Amino acid sequence: MDIVIIPGDGIGPETMQVSVELLQKADAMFGLGLNMTHEIAGHDSLRLHGATVTQRLLDQVKAADGLLLGPMATYDFKDEAKGEINPSKFFRKNLDLYANIRPAKTYTGIKTLTGPFDLVVVRENTEGFYADRNMALGHSEILVTDDVAISMRRITRVCCERIARSAFELARLRQKRLTLVHKANVLRITDGLFLQACADVGQDFPDVAVDDFIVDAMMAHVVRAPEKFDVIVTTNMFGDILSDLTAELSGSLGLGGSLNAGAHHAMGQAAHGSAPDIAGRNIANPFSQVLSAAMLLAWHASRRDKPHFWAASQAMEKAVSDCVAAGECTRDIGGQLGTRETGQALCRRLQSAA
Ligand code: NAD
Repeated sequence: MDIVIIPGDGIGPETMQVSVELLQKADAMFGLGLNMTHEIAGHDSLRLHGATVTQRLLDQVKAADGLLLGPMATYDFKDEAKGEINPSKFFRKNLDLYANIRPAKTYTGIKTLTGPFDLVVVRENTEGFYADRNMALGHSEILVTDDVAISMRRITRVCCERIARSAFELARLRQKRLTLVHKANVLRITDGLFLQACADVGQDFPDVAVDDFIVDAMMAHVVRAPEKFDVIVTTNMFGDILSDLTAELSGSLGLGGSLNAGAHHAMGQAAHGSAPDIAGRNIANPFSQVLSAAMLLAWHASRRDKPHFWAASQAMEKAVSDCVAAGECTRDIGGQLGTRETGQALCRRLQSAA
């Protein structure tokens, strides 16, 4: 498997280093034949190449089997004319990575506000309120006058149907329960279309039980009883917010693995941002990036029918659970270890998880 590795900004190089070391270990143990190519994007690329991402990099990623992208300092990149392109958007849009899969589950060893739960948020990733990616040309945030601004949200049947299908397929592999999250009481046309598309796709999945919640009420329901949910599907912005909440409910934003997948490409990318407040201090939690790497291997396993990639992915996830249970983790989830030392513990746990 050819994987392009991009560490990203802020804490990215620290958490990516741990992920690469664990992948190397998994490669040796499971005979994966990984070929990892190291590239740059974000601030490093802006300094070196005059742009946060380049066409050459995109071509390279398109030719590979997967991309592992670190967190990007997206908020710093404001002017595309100066090469300040949002790398996450760039890859999601150009590789048509329409499904953002964000699992959240509790771990033995981490105190949480809730009881145990295990759910997955399936978030549409290519349109919605994301002003930088939902137009063929131009931008969907408009300054009408200095005091009047408009933001437009694009919802299409094709994007709703394909994200619904991804969610139903995932639900079928889990507990066969799917929750639709929307705001169709106010956004009657756009979220009405989302609900209708989900209902249409649901005809092919009569074995999956479906319910739905309005997004604001959903925040209360998921905090009150997250164990009631299995797979949750929603539009882009709602999914972004909801999945940060569910990751934090599971113990920390640093625990949320995330895969961005399309029909032909996939990108593992931690759910959190570049965390500049803790960058370079060896205290960042590497688990989110590691779990995203494990998800990338699992995606490759199912696409290419390669069970040893599935086994490697499962073993990486188990290494994370075992580290958490033993308190071998960073301070944000109650441990005492630094990022590097957590990586060493993960490698030891992986050895015994196989
Ligand atoms: P953030 O997710 O970077 O940080 C939020 C809080 O969580 C901070 O207190 C941070 O220290 C903590 N945190 C995040 N990841 C952690 C980890 N692995 N271990 C321990 N603590 C962790 O969000 P932010 O501060 O709002 O954003 C910083 C930058 O990241 C901005 O430029 C933003 O646009 C960008 N961002 C990028 C992505 C992405 O690349 N996918 C996602 C979100 C934000």
